[in-house]
Amino acid sequence: MYNVDEADIVVIDTCCFIEDAKRESIDEILDFIEYKKQKPFFLCVKGCLVQRYASQLVEELPEVDAWYGVLSPYRLAEALEKKVRFLVEEPETVYECAPRSKFSSYAYVKIADGCDRSCTFCAIPAFKGRFKSRSIESIEAEVRELVQNGVKEIVLVAQDTTAYGIDLYGKPSLPKLLRVLDSLEGEFRLRVMYMHPDHFDEEILSSFCDSRKVLHYFDLPVQHGSDEVLVKMGRIKKSEELLEMIFSIRRVLSDAAIRSSVIVGFPGEKEKNFEELLEFLKVAKFERLGCFIYSDEEGTVASELQDKVDEEIAKERMEEVLSLQAELAKESLSRFVGEELEVLVERSTKNYYVARSHLDAPEVDGIVQVRKDVNLNLPSFQLVRILDTDGFDLKGVLV
Ligand code: SF4
Repeated sequence: MYNVDEADIVVIDTCCFIEDAKRESIDEILDFIEYKKQKPFFLCVKGCLVQRYASQLVEELPEVDAWYGVLSPYRLAEALEKKVRFLVEEPETVYECAPRSKFSSYAYVKIADGCDRSCTFCAIPAFKGRFKSRSIESIEAEVRELVQNGVKEIVLVAQDTTAYGIDLYGKPSLPKLLRVLDSLEGEFRLRVMYMHPDHFDEEILSSFCDSRKVLHYFDLPVQHGSDEVLVKMGRIKKSEELLEMIFSIRRVLSDAAIRSSVIVGFPGEKEKNFEELLEFLKVAKFERLGCFIYSDEEGTVASELQDKVDEEIAKERMEEVLSLQAELAKESLSRFVGEELEVLVERSTKNYYVARSHLDAPEVDGIVQVRKDVNLNLPSFQLVRILDTDGFDLKGVLV
């Protein structure tokens, strides 16, 4: 529940990469339209949904005071100050040291935005624009400022972090960026999200191994496990190569936590393809997995494909994937029982501390429940012995 009582301005950031994300964004806007009836405020909606569907939204939701597309925090602040009502232009893809009103234990740092890839199901390149990286210096300055303000975990994000630097430095430069950030002073850790499996290579893996601060967490959305579907999705690596990539990570880093996501119900996905996906998951044994139902997105190649999968079948397939994953994750996470993990303790409840290990990206993964044996300063890094897992969260005691 939000506390909007003291707000003069409310800004809702939106997403629209699949049907569920659109629905969630619209529901959020409708909720705030309701709040506004009780206590008026200036309601601004911004982000990808507006970038993509501005004209329909303006017409259908007149209660919203301002509509802005994808724009930098500086332009946002400027537009809000002037109470601009509509601002949708070419997406601004580079954020220079975004001003922050408060600092929490973790912070997202955008290292690039936009995308030049051509996954056939994805509309993101159409409304986010070309891939554009921030300079290493600019990212370094932002990370330094965040760490000085007490942030303990920096989460590096982009549509595709493996492509980082290709536009600025002529070649993918994520390893170089990680080396620079790793050398910064301060007690913090780095987490890299959204690495494209097709472009994840030995050099990136080595940079994880050589670093002191980069967590052994690999976010690699494979999207499917059937070669036939992968080809239709416009992906390069086949299932064998994807598995080899996963094995190569596990060979060198036994504590690696691999997160992935898959899409079910892609046009033409036959029962045989779905079975191949399940087999793939059984071999890959991801510690974390997201599963989405395919939705037709305007302007994409996949939306033009015939042989759409029935919605009910797609839902059943998603449930089957999630129930299989629950078993597989329990098995994968059990290997940490009895081990010591460094965790970031972030808050306290009546009965336990809430912490995150390298296995747990904020907002999407699980937590570590740490027994409250002593008083701790929060946030802080602590060593914890893992006692148990339910397949999603871990439980442990301070060492
Ligand atoms: S790499 Fe990611 S953002 Fe780019 S087209 Fe593929 S799925 Fe979309």
